[in-house]
Amino acid sequence: MSASGKAMWTSILFFLACFLPNALSEETKEHPSIGIVGGGIGGTSTAYFLRQLFGKEAKIDIFEKRQVGGRLTTIKIGDNQIEAGGTLIHPKNMYMVNFTKLLGLEQLDVGGGSFGIFDGSSMRISSSQYSVVTMAKLFWRYGMDIYNIDSWINEKLLSKFMRIYDIQSAGHAYTTVPDLIGAMDPSFISYMKNSIKFVMKTSGFGDTFIDEMVMGALRTNYGQNTDIPGFVGAVSIAGVQPGLWAVKGGNKQVPEKLVSEAQVQVIQGTVVSVQLLQYQGKNYRVGFFDAEKKEQFKDYDIVIVATPLHDEVSEIDFEDFPSSIENFPQQFHKVTATFVEGVPDPKYFGVDNADDLPNSILTCNDSILVNSQDKKADVFGNPTDVYKFFSNTPPSEDDVKQMFTSKKDIRMATFMAYPEYSTVGEDLPPFVLHDQLYYVNGIELAASAMEMSSIAGKNVALLAYNHWHGNLEKIDEPYLDPALEKDKTEL
Ligand SMILES: Cc1cc2nc3c(=O)[nH]c(=O)nc-3n(C[C@H](O)[C@H](O)[C@H](O)COP(=O)(O)OP(=O)(O)OC[C@H]3O[C@@H](n4cnc5c(N)ncnc54)[C@H](O)[C@@H]3O)c2cc1C
Repeated sequence: MSASGKAMWTSILFFLACFLPNALSEETKEHPSIGIVGGGIGGTSTAYFLRQLFGKEAKIDIFEKRQVGGRLTTIKIGDNQIEAGGTLIHPKNMYMVNFTKLLGLEQLDVGGGSFGIFDGSSMRISSSQYSVVTMAKLFWRYGMDIYNIDSWINEKLLSKFMRIYDIQSAGHAYTTVPDLIGAMDPSFISYMKNSIKFVMKTSGFGDTFIDEMVMGALRTNYGQNTDIPGFVGAVSIAGVQPGLWAVKGGNKQVPEKLVSEAQVQVIQGTVVSVQLLQYQGKNYRVGFFDAEKKEQFKDYDIVIVATPLHDEVSEIDFEDFPSSIENFPQQFHKVTATFVEGVPDPKYFGVDNADDLPNSILTCNDSILVNSQDKKADVFGNPTDVYKFFSNTPPSEDDVKQMFTSKKDIRMATFMAYPEYSTVGEDLPPFVLHDQLYYVNGIELAASAMEMSSIAGKNVALLAYNHWHGNLEKIDEPYLDPALEKDKTEL
């Protein structure tokens, strides 16, 4: 090569050495690669919100070890598909409402029907076929509490809870669970520190109402009792309010369809490690066993953990981080859902006549096997002869024999379902585990529900986006409601 040719190449190489890394880092800066561990509603809603924020060029992978949907799943019994995991959605759960609409799905009304509260030997109360009689019975037993509960839930929980949608649409994000919950309303922090029993008693509700109605709601929704914190307790009461719905055809369609809506690649595999990389380029290396059980690695700029970090749910090693990232110590609550296609024995619930057995039975005694029982419609709303009951331990054959006079089919699903709330302390986990390593499921220690996972998913997506673009003014800063600010200036 001539001297001038050599000089030209030296200049080109010098130019590339100086400018290419910047050009490349600018490119990556705009379009990060993101790995999400877990394809439940938490992981898939996070993917959807990330796609909205980062645009179509970002590369987003979801690792899923079983099936997309996670705890949103159905079970087949006889010819019927029945919701087995997360079932009921509140009408004011705006992300679930919007996803359903956006994905071309339909809402199915799942509330209503006859109900009773069983104490282990008899029904404390049961509805009548005449609504006036039901109201009179409820008023006789619970007084004004039965009327006050809806306005209490609306005023003390829902109206404040719903501020989160304005906060998040203004791009604000929070690094810890208490900061996010406290941003909805500071009173929620004290709800997280006191039991639902205490919170409701100090709001004027009577013992009978708390020990029967509230206890029944907590046992059916979380398999737990009125000692659990007030925030999750109130979420649970909202879970037995009127207007509840499910997605026609099955709730799991939401995460399944979010995957294609967000244009995400699903990698079938079990993640076993996340390693902090020591070189410039990508930040984290995800280690996983693929569908053929072969160990593989993939590197990312951003990693999001969207599964409970709990030894019995998913064990992931965090390697080479400056300070150790541990699994969280709180216990998880195991629940078994048993599905029986058959004829129930009304005597098991202290009822003489089969026609008088309510379709939905709550229980208010935490020393009995059954947390609740429901006569189920299938995922399209068609009536069936399937009864679903929840219990904290799997029922024995003998238990089922006592409960049903005949049975055609039986199925069981045991879940590591949600945190054991009595073991949840005041130190709730952060959403940020390391610079660009995030954790969605810490939210479950405040309350586990589909909408809570979606809210946490949006929070984590906003954190990732705000950190990536240096929008630090949108992180952990109070959100000033423009309407209220306008009122103040006008005063
Ligand atoms: C029986 C039951 C009833 C419920 N009822 C309701 C209800 O009526 N209404 C309501 O709103 N909520 C309800 N819930 C709660 C609700 O289902 C959950 O809060 C929500 O589904 C949690 O979603 P998630 O994505 O955060 O977690 P998950 O759904 O658990 O998703 C995590 C995913 O990560 C995958 N995974 C785990 N570890 C790894 C790994 N190492 N590598 C790769 N993949 C991994 C799992 O396979 C799973 O698919 C109920 C839950 C249960 C169990």
